[in-house]
Amino acid sequence: MTYFDVNLNLTDEDRALKEAAHKFAKEVLRPVAKELDEMTPEQAIADDSPFWPFLKKSYELGYHTVLLPAEVGGMGLTPNQTVIVLEELSWGSFGLALYLCVSSFAAMGAALTGNEEIIKKYVLPFCECRDGSIRGCWGGTEPDHGSDCIAMGEPIFYDPNVRCNCRAKRDGDEWVINGQKAAWVSGGTVSTHTLLHVQTDPSKGLAGWSVIIVPMDLPGASKGKPLNKIGQRDLNQGELFFEDVRVPLENAIFGPDVYEGIIEGILAFANIMMSACSTGLARAAFDEAFNYCKERVQGGRVLMEHYSIKQRIFQMFARVETCRALTRAAANLNYVISPGFPEYSMAAKTTTTQMCLDNADDAIQLLGGNGLSKEYLPEKLYRDARATLIEDGNNETLARHGGHTLFQTYPRPPVEG
Ligand SMILES: Cc1cc2nc3c(=O)[nH]c(=O)nc-3n(C[C@H](O)[C@H](O)[C@H](O)COP(=O)(O)OP(=O)(O)OC[C@H]3O[C@@H](n4cnc5c(N)ncnc54)[C@H](O)[C@@H]3O)c2cc1C
Repeated sequence: MTYFDVNLNLTDEDRALKEAAHKFAKEVLRPVAKELDEMTPEQAIADDSPFWPFLKKSYELGYHTVLLPAEVGGMGLTPNQTVIVLEELSWGSFGLALYLCVSSFAAMGAALTGNEEIIKKYVLPFCECRDGSIRGCWGGTEPDHGSDCIAMGEPIFYDPNVRCNCRAKRDGDEWVINGQKAAWVSGGTVSTHTLLHVQTDPSKGLAGWSVIIVPMDLPGASKGKPLNKIGQRDLNQGELFFEDVRVPLENAIFGPDVYEGIIEGILAFANIMMSACSTGLARAAFDEAFNYCKERVQGGRVLMEHYSIKQRIFQMFARVETCRALTRAAANLNYVISPGFPEYSMAAKTTTTQMCLDNADDAIQLLGGNGLSKEYLPEKLYRDARATLIEDGNNETLARHGGHTLFQTYPRPPVEG
């Protein structure tokens, strides 16, 4: 184990899960992520890509169900265990750890309905899948609507003049979907199912969306080319297209009547997942810098013996612990209470993503020229970390919404444990 865990409440089971996830991250995720990072986006998802054996191994171990409860066949982890496992996996690779999360999004949405038929159709087969052949994604962002999709409480969100890129109309006992999602859908290029956010009531603007489960093998559904980007190159992204795609009415699991609350809930949940993964990345950067500074000799001594280096390493350590504490606090609140407190998840996401970028930046500086070289990990960590400030909601947008929530709802009554 590379890093001490100060949480004295960890059970033997928590520790066993942590160790197993760390071993998997070290032996599988990190080497595969390095290979994928150096490939073109097309090579990274081609039939002979190391992505596929990675996926199979992850599904065999059940890591694709890390966010799902035991009642539907998921790993059934406690809030603490969930973020502990994600932190470890992300220590190996932020992109691949996040892929395992988004791959479960269609199943997770379906599980939330409590509808037995929907669960039988979309959740149980996913949880039972051991070969990686069922893969979900989260189709929210549109080419013309990024931050606006989560501008709840602002006039733009309710403006009936906003034309969405992806719309669905009811035709008898089916929804007919037309349009497209942005090139930013993680895992979109390899998805078999989408948790699609789509406008069904244009009179309500962006608030008039529904959440619909869409199998991507239906006639009229197609996927775009994988996107080329600076970091998280091990996490593929691409557009989703819909041309008169027909799904049964019951696939619309949430409608415009509850959409605003649902998007708050999804953000409260997903921002914690981002925080846990950012903690893993911040820790990976700490480990790289710490180990290097114990070996590298300059000024007649190992770097670690210089005062300014000790100070910098200590700041990196403090960031890891801050990320971890904030993530666990938000998880133990919002994975238990419903409706949750999105401002806690947003505080965790905006803080941990900035801190993981700061740690990756410091790791590069402490490795000197080697920090910029692809021979060393910090160069990749820095590129991966940069994306986190935009992913799952721009940090500025989340902060704005978090501030809005505070003004709307505080002071809150005390929460009983
Ligand atoms: C690695 C990665 C993975 C992703 N995965 C997914 C996924 O799986 N599914 C999915 O649906 N989406 C995904 N996204 C998309 C992501 O959620 C969006 O990129 C994000 O919400 C921002 O939208 P945008 O890129 O369109 O930026 P824009 O919304 O166009 O923002 C551009 C800039 O303008 C600022 N801005 C926006 N609105 C305002 C305002 N009202 N006032 C002041 N400033 C403003 C923003 O802060 C930002 O700096 C992913 C993104 C990344 C980078």
